[in-house]
This record gives sequence, C-alpha cells and structure tokens, in this order.
Amino acid sequence: MKLVDSFGRHIYYLRISVTDRCNLRCIYCMPAEGVPWIPHSEVLSYEEMARIVGIVAELGFSKVRLTGGEPLVRADLPGFVKMLLQIQGIEEISLTTNGTLLKKYALELKQVGLERVNISLDTLRAERYRDITRQGNLSDVLDGIKAAQDVGLSTKINMVVMRGINDDEAVDFARRTYQGWHVRFIELMPFTRAAEYVPAEELRQRIGSLGSLEACSLDGNGPAEYYRLPGATGTIGFIASVSKPVCLFCNRMRLTSDGQIRSCLLSDEGIDLRGPLRSGASAQEVKRLILQAVAFKPEGHPALESNSLKSNMSRIGG
Ligand code: SAM
Ligand code: SF4
Repeated sequence: MKLVDSFGRHIYYLRISVTDRCNLRCIYCMPAEGVPWIPHSEVLSYEEMARIVGIVAELGFSKVRLTGGEPLVRADLPGFVKMLLQIQGIEEISLTTNGTLLKKYALELKQVGLERVNISLDTLRAERYRDITRQGNLSDVLDGIKAAQDVGLSTKINMVVMRGINDDEAVDFARRTYQGWHVRFIELMPFTRAAEYVPAEELRQRIGSLGSLEACSLDGNGPAEYYRLPGATGTIGFIASVSKPVCLFCNRMRLTSDGQIRSCLLSDEGIDLRGPLRSGASAQEVKRLILQAVAFKPEGHPALESNSLKSNMSRIGG
C-alpha cells in the first residue's frame, strides 16, 4: 500500500523517539537544568513501539529512524533494532545519536542489522564541546565515530551551526570530507535562545573558499542538498530548516516516547496511541488514529525566524 497525504506527499518514514532522556544538555536543545523526564510508566515499552511499527508497516511505511533524547541511554537498543527488523515491510532502520555511547554499541548494532547512523557533533574542540553540551567529552564522540566507521556502519556527522559559537569551525568540518566524513550543516532552530542561526547559503559561500562545490546526491538526499569538494571522498550537506524548509517533500511521521503520533516536528498537536493500545484497542482502531494524524499533516510550518518554539527536540525526537 502507498500512503499519500492531503498534499500528495508519499508518507513512509517513521521517526521514533525511544526515550526523552539524555546524557547531555546541549544549549540549543534543553535548558541547563534539563527538562522533567517523562515517568517510566508513561513511556512505551519496546513491544508497544514494535506493535505500532507493525501497524504502520501495513500502511506502507518501510523506514524507521530511532532518535530521542539519546536513544543509546535506553537499555538494549540493539535488541529493539532486531525486533523491528523482523517486521514485514520494514526495510531500513537508522539511528540518530550524540555518539557518546557508540563505541560500546557500534558492533552490536551492526550485527543486528542497523545500517545508518547520524552522529551529532558541533565542534572539534574539547573545551567548546563541553560548553555546548554542558557535560560531554569530545573524545567519547570521536571514539564513537571511529567505532561506527570501523564496523562498517554508514555514518553522517550532523553539525548544528550557531553564529559566534561554532560557525568558525564550519570550514574545519568541511575539510574532514577529505578523510571520507559525510558532514551535514544544520540551521539552528529556535527551541532555546542559544544563538542565531547561520543561513546555509552563507555557509556554502564560506566553504567555497576550499574549492568549488560540485552538487551530488547521497541516499536520495532527504532534507539536505549535497555537494563535494574536488578530491574529497566525503560529502557536504546543507539542511536549511529555517531559511528554506523542505516541507513540500516531507515523507515522515513521528512517534514520541510516550506514544503520541505527530505529523510535524514543529506542531504540538499529536494523537495519543498509548491509551488505546493499553486499553486493548484493535490494530484496526490504532490504524484509524494513525491515518487521522496523517490527515492532519500540515502543508508546511510558519516561518522560524524568531525564538518562538515552545517544545524541545529531546521530547519530540529531532
Ligand atoms: N540525542 C541525539 C542527538 O543529539 O543526535 C538524538 C536526538 S537530537 C534531539 C536529534 C538532532 O536534533 C541532533 O542532531 C541535534 O543536533 C538536533 N537539534 C536539537 N536541537 C536543535 C535545534 N534547536 N536546532 C537544530 N537542530 C537541533
Ligand atoms: Fe541530548 Fe541530542 Fe538534545 Fe543534545 S541534541 S541535549 S544530545 S537530545
């Protein structure tokens, strides 16, 4: 089956926030004191999440990305990946992680069938890393990236660029593509008042000082535009979530760790699936609720120029 929304978009990609908890407190994602965690009893079990994935698979979903919070702080994430890959119709599972625990889990994740990992890294300087994440160690992430590459996971590095905080490192990140890194620059979204965003176009021009950027494609592109520097084996992607959102091509739905299905990262509207699941709803009833959420998927979201967003990424699953 092919699920198409009210604006003609093919919807086949589910992002699951497996936990709202995190071992970091990135300045653009959470307040310093953190956010109140969702009580364990309200978080879906892996079995409940897998049941929902089974239902969306019947609706034609084939790709799942696990995110959070930090997905690797939840116990036995590899076991969950394995569980999901047994669901008929699910072709690919990927992961978005801060990478701090990846050294421990990379091999196991690869062995159970994970294919892709996006690793968030905003600086290559240890002291700055601590400032941005408020509590992380750069060496843990660098070890995680190496471990993921060594076991053959396909990796991308995501850098959120903040003016006056880390934008001076964009060119250093771009240089890493000569060592095979696939680097994506993400425009900062105003969830906190951490800093100003740097438009992708400005970055593209700055990085152009290294050589002429040739347009290319990577894994069907998704929300990014990709380029390659002459002689580089890795690629440079730009995700212009603020200056040039690509809602027109959005193919995804989101499941929060407490069981809400949402149609847009920036909408606070969600439909609760946990209640119905726990009170014995049939697959048909859950399917109807998911279709209702798809029907609400907006054509786009309002401009993001101001510091206006109420929610935070760690809850919804960025
Ligand atoms: N903890 C994991 C991580 O950091 O990769 C997964 C969850 S995190 C919310 C997912 C992604 O959202 C990360 O790449 C992070 O950099 C990004 N993110 C968080 N807050 C953001 C913001 N205000 N603007 C743009 N990206 C943001
Ligand atoms: Fe945690 Fe990821 Fe948010 Fe940083 S961006 S605080 S690692 S959830």
